[in-house]
Amino acid sequence: MSVAVVAGGGIAGILSALLLSESERFKKIILIEKNDVLGGLLNSSVTEEGYSFDCGTHLLGETGILELDELLLKDVMNDWKLISPLKVSTYFNGTIQHEGPCIDARLIDEPLYYKGVVELLNSKPVEEGRIDNLADQLVMEYGQTFADELFARTIKKLFNTTADQLIPGAHELFVPRRIKILAEHISAELKGSPYLDSKIAFHQIVDQRRSYYPHSGGIGQWISILEDRLRRNGIEVILNDHIRQVVHENGKVRAVRTSTEEIALDQLVWSIPPGILYKMVKQDGTVKMPKIRKVKLFHFVFDAPFNCDCAYLNNYDQTFSSFRITFYANMNSEHNGYRCTVEVLFSDDHCDIRAETIVDELKRMQVLKDLSNLLYCKTEELPTGFPLLTKQYVNELNEQVSYINQNFNNVLMVGKSNGSGFFLNDVLINTYHSVKELG
Ligand SMILES: Cc1cc2nc3c(=O)[nH]c(=O)nc-3n(C[C@H](O)[C@H](O)[C@H](O)COP(=O)(O)OP(=O)(O)OC[C@H]3O[C@@H](n4cnc5c(N)ncnc54)[C@H](O)[C@@H]3O)c2cc1C
Repeated sequence: MSVAVVAGGGIAGILSALLLSESERFKKIILIEKNDVLGGLLNSSVTEEGYSFDCGTHLLGETGILELDELLLKDVMNDWKLISPLKVSTYFNGTIQHEGPCIDARLIDEPLYYKGVVELLNSKPVEEGRIDNLADQLVMEYGQTFADELFARTIKKLFNTTADQLIPGAHELFVPRRIKILAEHISAELKGSPYLDSKIAFHQIVDQRRSYYPHSGGIGQWISILEDRLRRNGIEVILNDHIRQVVHENGKVRAVRTSTEEIALDQLVWSIPPGILYKMVKQDGTVKMPKIRKVKLFHFVFDAPFNCDCAYLNNYDQTFSSFRITFYANMNSEHNGYRCTVEVLFSDDHCDIRAETIVDELKRMQVLKDLSNLLYCKTEELPTGFPLLTKQYVNELNEQVSYINQNFNNVLMVGKSNGSGFFLNDVLINTYHSVKELG
């Protein structure tokens, strides 16, 4: 009997197990998750008072792959709230804007702004591979002024390091690459040039992709639906355990050892950090754990509606601690207070920013009415977060992934940890193609 073991029960592991169960190839599929619930960064909690909050990703969006959308969304498309267009606001240099996630260069002081526009319009395309780090990329692509005034401080806030320490493109983990400049009709015209189009944003950005969110409760309901499907498809789900060792010979992983048993296998799907497997299979495999920007979540309930109708607000302003704010009250129809979650990034062992500071920031951004009262507050620090995309981290990750790929022909790596994509749809699409290729 052929057996597939899937390590990690986040969405990449869940999707892998579902896809494997639909092919005839494996008679038995076992999913192993170290926590007591599946879902990883797609989870929700409900408080005693009945307030629900998510802990990572919030919305489900169509991937554009029919079979995948049918598999993942068929149970939610009709029952959940359709959110289209998706409204995103920004806060930068003391100003809130409601027209999409891009930074508006017109918010910096005038002489600098015009200097920046001239530099940007005079910049030249750079040959791929010629740029070594993000600082150089930003100067070459946007000019020194916008690199300093728009990106440098935002990057310091979000990564807690300088752009020269990061790989090119690292900022796109948090900040869109396009910026708003000039009058709307002029920038629309400039976007006729493919080179400028890659840097200049439309002023009104309307995300027309179809996204879904439950009418009440949180995104964790999706995981419950999928978990049900896993069990109906006969997949064995092991919770609260993890792989401690692997048994391997002749270019194959033959078995995994958990704390209670040894499971023989024909195929291993690995959706957790490659470094864990690398350390197990490589004799001298020392692995430095990647630096992570950790996330503290502030879950709030207020007694009055917010002053905005967006689903998200991205706060790029370096004088604020808050980064992304999710307004559940604008995404579903629950009527027990006005809920939001504020994400704060930090690097130390512990984040000592207090809830009062964040409530004050919401008021300063004017998303909260002055007379709003806080009804409920809960904070949590996530056990994971955003990778600090330094050159060293990416080199080490690539080395681990290629070592495993070169030495084992029955291990498939999927998920956000292997560096092939961080965001939900990238993870779903990459996982779909990789597992399908197994046949
Ligand atoms: C704060 C935050 C907000 C985000 N917001 C968005 C967003 O708005 N939009 C978006 O598209 N993406 C967002 N993302 C990214 C998105 O959450 C990921 O793309 C997606 O969750 C990745 O799924 P995954 O299965 O690869 O990883 P994970 O969700 O991390 O799942 C990995 C699973 O493996 C388990 N595991 C780990 N080690 C072991 C082990 N040794 N043995 C067994 N199990 C193990 C973990 O417990 C976890 O359940 C966000 C990420 C973060 C951190």
